[in-house]
Amino acid sequence: MTVEIICVGTELLLGNIVNTNAAFLAEQCAGLGLECYYQTVVGDNAARLSLCLQTAMDRSDVILLSGGLGPTEDDLTKETVARLCGRELLLHEPSRKAIQEYFERRGIELTDNNWKQAMLPEGCIVMENHNGTAPGVILETEKSKIVLLPGPPGELVPMFRESVAPYLAGLTEKVICSQTVKLCGVGESKAEMMIRDLIDTQTNPTIATYAKTGEVHIRVTASAQDSKACGKLIKPVVKELKNRFQNLIYSTEEDATLEKVVVDLLRANDLTVTCAESCTGGLLAGRLVNVPGVSDVLKFSVITYSNKAKRKLLGLRKPMLQKYGAVSPQTAEEMSRGAAALAKADVAVAITGLAGPDGDGEEKPVGLVYIAVNVKGNVTVEEYHFSGNRSKIRESAVSAALVLLRSCVLEYFSEITFGKKK
Ligand code: ATP
Repeated sequence: MTVEIICVGTELLLGNIVNTNAAFLAEQCAGLGLECYYQTVVGDNAARLSLCLQTAMDRSDVILLSGGLGPTEDDLTKETVARLCGRELLLHEPSRKAIQEYFERRGIELTDNNWKQAMLPEGCIVMENHNGTAPGVILETEKSKIVLLPGPPGELVPMFRESVAPYLAGLTEKVICSQTVKLCGVGESKAEMMIRDLIDTQTNPTIATYAKTGEVHIRVTASAQDSKACGKLIKPVVKELKNRFQNLIYSTEEDATLEKVVVDLLRANDLTVTCAESCTGGLLAGRLVNVPGVSDVLKFSVITYSNKAKRKLLGLRKPMLQKYGAVSPQTAEEMSRGAAALAKADVAVAITGLAGPDGDGEEKPVGLVYIAVNVKGNVTVEEYHFSGNRSKIRESAVSAALVLLRSCVLEYFSEITFGKKK
């Protein structure tokens, strides 16, 4: 089955907003085993949208549209689709009621054009919107299934997961299941090289790699008559991936995040952690705090951006800072020792680096970051060279810190097991 994505919005054409909906929908479709050959962006213009739709209906089984379901004049996706398919727009009473309740709950006055969102093409399948007012619509025509989704990602994503994904899965006789193997501490190209032979010979299940900041995800997708049969196809491939990547795999759970796995690892080993952050300014602590209930592991964290703060809070010595500079392995190590002492934590992570855009006026390049992890007095320091703008460098540093933290804790305990450490 082929699927095609059309994103409607002049803002997208002008580059005012990034088309994250297309990326989300395409990734989801790939996960469902659907072939997506075309993506289009079209402005809020009925004639051009009509043309795009006609072309799409001639070549694709399913058309996913995002945007243009709002109450204003320039929101014309539903109207254009209905006209093209020869369907009338009729008042859908449950949607009218839902819109009224939505506004009443928020104490906002309804305007007349809000009712436009309750006018839906006759004979369509209506998808409730639990995060906004525009209902989603599925229109089945002889040629294609047309799916209309609201533009805001906060509405589109849950609607896709709740209603569209099960609908698409039900269109084929076969069931499509996937499992994601999540790696950290390895780049996408190296990861791909390590499984080149598997990728080259893949049929069912398929294997696809996705790069995330500091992580690589490998999705194994199988299609079979039921989920049990899918599981049987997926299991040996995941086993082989585990064989090849070993400790580079941090999880095979769908909802696992790197920070959650790290927090679970610390908790399982009864370790408390603290952070001393310079260039990342609290982002690492923020990632850890993403994990609910982290307070038993993370009790205290500091942002020591200036040298004065590094000296005052972490006890770094002025001559050492002058000799090596704030961005140096020595400073990172001392920060991790100072932070562990200050917070009385078992583990301390320190980050110091140059996030740019300006360098330090000396020889050190923008993107140079040192990360130190101190596990019960054993300090590991790594040097990194990240690229991109300031926020990309800071994000990369945080991901690298989580990866290093995980590997240092794992290593510490494996060495204890082998009797190297007391
Ligand atoms: P609304 O009811 O809010 O008007 P809508 O379905 O009419 O929703 P649009 O008006 O097209 O959707 O877009 C509303 C907002 O949703 C945009 O301003 C933008 O922030 C976001 N949005 C729309 N399309 C996309 C997209 N393809 N990718 C990411 N964000 C998008």
